[in-house]
Amino acid sequence: MLFTALSCVMDSHKNDLRDLPTRQLLARRRAAAARLGDVEQMLAGTLTEQPRRCGRPGCRCADGDPHGPYAYYTPRLAGRGRARYVPAALAGVVRRYLHRGAEAEAALAEISAINAELLARRELG
Ligand SMILES: [Zn+2]
Repeated sequence: MLFTALSCVMDSHKNDLRDLPTRQLLARRRAAAARLGDVEQMLAGTLTEQPRRCGRPGCRCADGDPHGPYAYYTPRLAGRGRARYVPAALAGVVRRYLHRGAEAEAALAEISAINAELLARRELG
């Protein structure tokens, strides 16, 4: 079955924080916090699209022309990652929320990495 993953992966590359002066770390932290923005409109998980066969004999899908594809949202929760059908009218909204979620998580990860470096410098306060 065709299975298209539409998850949004942010690359979490960064040049080595240890090489940056504290001033620059603080500026980066502020910028990352600003990128967090409105975290109400976020989702963690993936959106996938799958074609379906309805099972009715004689339907076009029985001859290899499936219905859909339909969108499914899979929440990223330990052990509860059941895929849920997403109506086509909401797929774009889900995509936008997933993107915001990935952006927010990347910003949080960067803030945490900066704070860990500040801790190592005994400048966390
Ligand atoms: Zn069918």
